[in-house]
Amino acid sequence: MGKKWVYFFANGQAEGNAQMKDILGGKGANLAEMTNAGVPVPPGFTISTEVCKFYYDNNRTYPEDLKEQVEAAMKKLEEVTGKGFGDPKKPLLVSVRSGAAISMPGMMDTILNLGLNDETVKGLVEMTNNERFAYDSYRRFLQMFGDTALGIPHADFENALAEMKAQKGVKLDTELDAEDLKKLVETYKEIYKKHGKEFPQDVYKQLWAAIEAVIWSWMSDRAIKYREIHGIKEGQLLGTAVNIVAMVFGNMGDDSGTGVCFTRDPNTGEKVYYGEFLPNAQGEDVVAGIRTPYPLEKMKEMIPQAYDELIAIMDRLEAYFKDMQDIEFTVEKGKLYILQTRSAKRTSQAAIRIAVDMVHEGLIDKKTAVLRVQPSDIERVLHPKFDEKERKNAKVIAKGLPASPGAATGKVYFDAHKAEEAAKAGEKVLLVRPETSPEDVGGMNAAEGILTARGGMTSHAAVVARGLGKPAVVGAESIYVNEEEGYLKVGDVVVKEGEWLSIDGTTGEVFLGKITTVKPQGLEGPVAELLSWADEFRKLGVRANADVPRDAKVAREFGAEGIGLCRTEHMFFEKDRIPKVRRMIVARTKEEREAALAELLPLQKEDFKGLFREMKGYPVTIRLIDPPLHEFLPQEEEQMAEVAQQIGITVEELKKVVEQLHELNPMLGHRGVRLLVTYPEIAVMQTKAIILAAIELKKEEGIEVVPEIMIPLVGHINELKYVKQIIIETADALIKEHGVELKYLVGTMIEVPRAAVTADQIAQEADFFSFGTNDLTQMTFGFSRDDVGKFLPEYLEKGILEHDPFKHIDTQGVGQLVKSATEKGKEVKSTLKCGVCGEHGGDPKSIEFFATTKLDYVSASPYRIPVARLAAAQASIKYRS
Ligand code: PEP
Ligand code: MG
Repeated sequence: MGKKWVYFFANGQAEGNAQMKDILGGKGANLAEMTNAGVPVPPGFTISTEVCKFYYDNNRTYPEDLKEQVEAAMKKLEEVTGKGFGDPKKPLLVSVRSGAAISMPGMMDTILNLGLNDETVKGLVEMTNNERFAYDSYRRFLQMFGDTALGIPHADFENALAEMKAQKGVKLDTELDAEDLKKLVETYKEIYKKHGKEFPQDVYKQLWAAIEAVIWSWMSDRAIKYREIHGIKEGQLLGTAVNIVAMVFGNMGDDSGTGVCFTRDPNTGEKVYYGEFLPNAQGEDVVAGIRTPYPLEKMKEMIPQAYDELIAIMDRLEAYFKDMQDIEFTVEKGKLYILQTRSAKRTSQAAIRIAVDMVHEGLIDKKTAVLRVQPSDIERVLHPKFDEKERKNAKVIAKGLPASPGAATGKVYFDAHKAEEAAKAGEKVLLVRPETSPEDVGGMNAAEGILTARGGMTSHAAVVARGLGKPAVVGAESIYVNEEEGYLKVGDVVVKEGEWLSIDGTTGEVFLGKITTVKPQGLEGPVAELLSWADEFRKLGVRANADVPRDAKVAREFGAEGIGLCRTEHMFFEKDRIPKVRRMIVARTKEEREAALAELLPLQKEDFKGLFREMKGYPVTIRLIDPPLHEFLPQEEEQMAEVAQQIGITVEELKKVVEQLHELNPMLGHRGVRLLVTYPEIAVMQTKAIILAAIELKKEEGIEVVPEIMIPLVGHINELKYVKQIIIETADALIKEHGVELKYLVGTMIEVPRAAVTADQIAQEADFFSFGTNDLTQMTFGFSRDDVGKFLPEYLEKGILEHDPFKHIDTQGVGQLVKSATEKGKEVKSTLKCGVCGEHGGDPKSIEFFATTKLDYVSASPYRIPVARLAAAQASIKYRS
């Protein structure tokens, strides 16, 4: 026997199982698994993803023995169903659907009712005794097959359908009778001819065309785009599987129907049965949002027995897969069939709540819960909300379904491509569509939020927005969207392209105009609980980059275990300080400078006291002044006069200083430790402020602090030695003078490649290292961190770099410097504490890399602390347990 390409499942027995996602795709593996578990799944078979791979690897041809295997499986399917494929009396009809190892909702094509032709349709009439249903199925098949397999525009069929309804003076599809549908079938065939195509009456021709269509769709623009957006790399998946399953019919009367259900509420995560049900309908009616479905409970009234069975199966499937399931089902004349189950997409809020609840229910353990929630979920629950006052005053113009939570405000665009362009140009964009389709995914991703006029909670717009974590309101039916002319209308309100609109994806409200969005503060409930578990597994410390007590407070609330970076110069920019800082800069003599510094000293001391107090004994790393001095002086002519007057010199004098301070490459210029070498009095003042703050807190409030004094931009050990000496002399003298015991550390940033390379030397003089990966990236690549916008986008587009190295650490270059410098440093001094305080410290992807090194902690901006805690825990579980 050659290779096995086809996996059969029927009547409680399947050749595959849930572990075989790689070759059966998610859908196929779960169908097999459910069959094995005795769940009522219609019989069928899966053509493995290896066929798709073979197809693209071999010049778009199939394995030789595939035909034989497919035909054998069809024969078996005929046996178990007691029907015949192409049999005019008892026709077997099948669905043909795609399914890769990772679910890509709506990305690939599905064909239903395959096997119908002019003869078998009569058999279906006979079998079901329902002529209307048979011809409805036939015309649906013609439409789907024509569109999906032969590329005939969907709209042509839709127009013919609309025309037919108009002729009859009816509104709903269901109001068309069998005769109308028969005529429609003929019209549809004419449409095929118009496009130079022939509808194949041969059912095997239909089948192969459908298989080919599914395999083609793997390489469709929208599937490629989806993989790109979701970071699915080429070669990571083999391809799509093709699932061929015996059809069951939800449109056989009022004891039939179809629906989608979730074992929990995918929006809130609440443990309730949740879903939608549409009586007397086929699945695509629900997904396409053509008819608005009922809530699931309605099924209880309509088909109680099938409802009870469904509930029991929901419980079973969730317990079996130990995760919330998204289940597609159909009831055919009272009999329930499960068509699909998969791990359900959920909002971030739901993801966290479900993970936590499932631990409490004993379904999963804490480690699984911590691994199951994405760092981005944590980020999203700190979702923007509307400013309450502005929201109260805003006009609600419509209400739709709250499909994906969070508040969004933006300029409206009615075309996904235009929206994408506008967002690229830096605009805040709100995408408004009648309904969305997979082609719109790019625009949806670029938009702040999404609004649709049609569709339910399981429509494409809702599912995709939730997956992207974008606020969305769907099915706001009172809104009329005119995409061609670029406006929406609701009542007598008209909003044109480019005008502002706001949506609340948590309530479903649509507001006229722009509303300021604000981030929610604080962590509580399930998020706090999950993060407390994360902390149990976390081996990487998480500190905050915080400059003022206010930031330190937020950081503590978010769970920071200290401050990894206080950029002292940020305090200098405060309104009451800047004149004093400027006086210090324009000082002509050392005495003048010292006088100005003396005025700054008490202010800095109070700042540091505030920070230390807020951090309650946690370590606080304070970095001495870093930026070039010209940053503190005005550059614009207009401000010169005012500033000159403020600091008591003439405009000419000020201009001269500004000129003197001018540098061609300020980022490589007179900054960091170089400033401290040339103006040691600045180091003296800042050291005094830090040490005095610690002494006073200890004496006055009994708070013990071990200040960590940090020197920026060191590249040579002698720079460090020189400044360290000044710090130690100043600090020790003060400590002696006050007669207290106070420990303090002196360390350095590692942000110049030379420092990383000579880390063993530098470690001899340093108590700690903190990697400034912003500068380290800048200096390792030689990319100005302020100007990368000019070329980096093209670098990314052309694939020269995989990602922006200022966002995710460059693991092969900059990352290696961090790794080796940490190792070298710790070899010389085992107590050397090492952390990262560049922006990468709050980036989950970078944190994952840092966990593979010997670093002790990462330091991130306060709002990223929760994300960093989770990412660090996940990385620790993966690499350090
Ligand atoms: C760094 O360079 O990574 C750093 C933290 O310092 P700054 O961003 O202030 O230059
Ligand atoms: Mg720096």
